[in-house]
Amino acid sequence: MNYLRKKSLENLFDKQPKSFQNKQKYSSLFASNVFTDAVLEQYVNKETFSQVAHAVNKGSKINRSIADQISASLKAWALSKGATHYTHWFQPLTGGTAEKHDAFFDLQASGKPIENFDGSQLVQQEPDASSFPSGGIRNTFEARGYTAWDPTSPAFILGKTLCIPTIFVSYTGEALDYKTPLLKSIQSLDNTATEICKYFDKNVTKVNTTLGWEQEYFLVDKGLAASRPDLIITGRTLFGHQPSKGQQLDDHYFGSIPPRVIAYMQELEHSAIQLGIPLKTRHNEVAPGQFELAPIFEEANLSVDHNSLVMDLMSKIALKHDFIVLFHEKPFEGINGSGKHNNWSLTTNTGVNLLSPGKTPMSNLQFLTFFINTIAAVLSHEALMRASIASASNDLRLGSNEAPPAILSVFIGKQLTAVLDDLENVSKGKLSPEEKTDLKLNVIGKIPEILLDNTDQNRTSPFAFTGNKFEFRAVGSKSNCAKSITVLNAALAQQLEKFGKEVETLIEEKDMKKDDAIFNALRDNLKGIKNILFEGDGYSDSWKKEAKKRGLSQNQNTPQALTAYIAKKSITLFEQTNVLSERELKARYIVDLKEYIMRIQIESRTFGDIARNHIIPTGIKYQNMLIENVKGLKEIYGKDYKKFAEVQLKIIERISGHIDKINNGIKQMVETRKSLNKNEDEYKKAYAYCVKVLPFLNEIRYHCDKLELIVDDELWPLAKYRELLFCH
Ligand code: ADP
Ligand code: MG
Repeated sequence: MNYLRKKSLENLFDKQPKSFQNKQKYSSLFASNVFTDAVLEQYVNKETFSQVAHAVNKGSKINRSIADQISASLKAWALSKGATHYTHWFQPLTGGTAEKHDAFFDLQASGKPIENFDGSQLVQQEPDASSFPSGGIRNTFEARGYTAWDPTSPAFILGKTLCIPTIFVSYTGEALDYKTPLLKSIQSLDNTATEICKYFDKNVTKVNTTLGWEQEYFLVDKGLAASRPDLIITGRTLFGHQPSKGQQLDDHYFGSIPPRVIAYMQELEHSAIQLGIPLKTRHNEVAPGQFELAPIFEEANLSVDHNSLVMDLMSKIALKHDFIVLFHEKPFEGINGSGKHNNWSLTTNTGVNLLSPGKTPMSNLQFLTFFINTIAAVLSHEALMRASIASASNDLRLGSNEAPPAILSVFIGKQLTAVLDDLENVSKGKLSPEEKTDLKLNVIGKIPEILLDNTDQNRTSPFAFTGNKFEFRAVGSKSNCAKSITVLNAALAQQLEKFGKEVETLIEEKDMKKDDAIFNALRDNLKGIKNILFEGDGYSDSWKKEAKKRGLSQNQNTPQALTAYIAKKSITLFEQTNVLSERELKARYIVDLKEYIMRIQIESRTFGDIARNHIIPTGIKYQNMLIENVKGLKEIYGKDYKKFAEVQLKIIERISGHIDKINNGIKQMVETRKSLNKNEDEYKKAYAYCVKVLPFLNEIRYHCDKLELIVDDELWPLAKYRELLFCH
């Protein structure tokens, strides 16, 4: 057997869980490595503290002297915790996180060593950032990109480094990261949602977006993974025959967590809790080797940071436990892939969840207002929402009978559907006192505080209402949550702005009372909404037909889906809500297209290499063994040998057949790539990679996987699905 594969299989059975001891309560460890408000309060005077709090809440500027005080506090705190370095921590358009460490250590002019960190180092840095994707906004000769402190997400210590969450912008002020537009979308939604809330409660001064993500992932033994260059380089298996046992017995889901995995999860939680990431849930997922973790929800900006941070921690801590983590949306063919459910809602400064039905008819009317407007917002920008979750890897998962379809629809359940039906029948104009009483008692009064059918979740829906929040389930496991949340926030902000104007017009021009106007505006907004509501089986072919009739977009692949970013409607949305300029939006479109091209290109190259220098030679080796055997039989039996060599001869022939197909396939694939690479237009190139290069991978893989079945197991160099999936 191939050395790597053999060695890791031998080692596997000796591997013991690296037990992780922690005797402290999580509540006493929580956020101990975070520069929380409570820590800041110990370091600065009341005046400074309240100025910082105001700036964080209102997004107002922090002046230089305050920044100096905060940086001094940060330095003192970080040094007391043993930190030696600091970094601006940001999320460039690569999808990962970025950091460039500088030591606190410095030398004064006199040569005296000191620890140095002042306000200017806190507020702004200029990393040599010429190699981050910018979609053409930044040329290398004007490579300056700046990171700027985000005071709404607290600094934390990772290892011995003080990490300061920052945004990342170009010299000319354009966003080059995911956080900048996210923050702007949160701000924009806060502005419009707060105005709408004032119809119901004058005390509302701020509306926060909340996010609770659920992160799915696979764990694979590090030694076994080392024999799979495809996994290491592309994050997914490009080869591998289905194991005889996959997930058909459903015996993994919510099953007992293997001891090696538990030890990993415990160490991960220990670190995450200290970083203030409120992890709450862990369990086995549907596929063998697949798991999930989820925190308690938080304010969206912080939650996005925490998701990025936890993914980074997961990868690092896994190595200590001899695992690697796979965040790829579809690492194994024929087996469920991974998603990242984004649970999203809105909360007021008065502590009300705006997507949770309340106790009184008025609070239920407020709930309905936000509920209906959210659906209307999704309807308006369904194609853009699909674009926000598009990637080469998520394409392999969406719509393949295990994950939400690539068509966006909204599931709300029977009870709320009935409420919307009743609301649609509200008569136009001013309502009579009787009708209003009836509405309040029998329509919105029907919405119970806890929705009965909120557990009757339709798992095939990409965007489902689940009792007190919407759950966006089509998001990919690898993706940065900010992308989809930014679109959702902007869409709702725009819709609420429009809704507010409609209500105002009814009040002013039709002389309506506030609640009459709200009822009327809601009823008017209900009309189109039915188009996006769907309660049936999202996996079925009949839904595809139905969705087509309804005019919903059905973009099966990323290049097509991405075009929604540059549609006029999207440009208007982002400009109106001040989230992204047209130039920034177009740059993002190009960044995503380029990433798509590169991902497929890397997969195709890796595939060609492995097929040529792992798989074909292994096939030949085995064929030679058979040829030797046949020669021997001939020696013994003379011309009767065929009687004894029938099977061998057949296999020899089949091996040649597969090798021929593999070799020719690769030749054609390389030629195709060469001709496509001449294409200068990013969209055309990406689309061609999708429809011309990608299919080769499946066609050629078929023959490689057949060889895996025929060839002597001793010779096969790549760890097999049965080993990768079941060895934990
Ligand atoms: P499930 O969807 O698995 O049935 P839960 O209802 O407990 O489970 O919630 C799943 C996720 O939704 C959790 O991560 C939780 O933090 C998040 N969540 C709950 N309420 C909200 C909210 N108001 N806003 C955002 N996320 C929320
Ligand atoms: Mg869920």
